[in-house]
Amino acid sequence: MDCIFCKIINKEIPSDGVIYENDDAVAILDINPIAPGHALVIPKIHSENLLGLPDEKIGGVFAAVKKVSEMIQGSLNPDGFTYGVNDRIGQTVSHLHILIIPRYKGDGGTSIHQVVSNKPKESLAEIKAKILKHGN
Ligand code: 5GP
Ligand code: ZN
Repeated sequence: MDCIFCKIINKEIPSDGVIYENDDAVAILDINPIAPGHALVIPKIHSENLLGLPDEKIGGVFAAVKKVSEMIQGSLNPDGFTYGVNDRIGQTVSHLHILIIPRYKGDGGTSIHQVVSNKPKESLAEIKAKILKHGN
């Protein structure tokens, strides 16, 4: 499979940006950082998005997100974090990755609420009914 993140995970191409690894995920520094410490947590199993990630991998992947956040907090001392996942829209690498973006006061960034401007025309009750009708 021609997937750059699979190649990094399988060590088919070298990446000196690896900062953490557990059974389910690898964390690397982003090659094109938008903030000091900008990192990516990548599941070891290939899945384009969260919907395709097996349930049993979710705990390990999210544990890696927490561990890497602790490492960054302890070393680079950011004022906060913004976490993100681009799923298909805005996604440039088709292998699920959780972006960890350390935030610093005055960094020019904003809230994740600014990513989209698409206020629903239906009420919350209508949307809730649709979601519940689909089941879980
Ligand atoms: P997306 O836009 O898909 O959410 O984010 C993909 C991210 O992966 C981008 O921030 C990009 O800079 C990063 N990236 C793409 N290729 C590589 C690579 O080969 N190595 C590393 N370390 N980061 C990469
Ligand atoms: Zn992959």
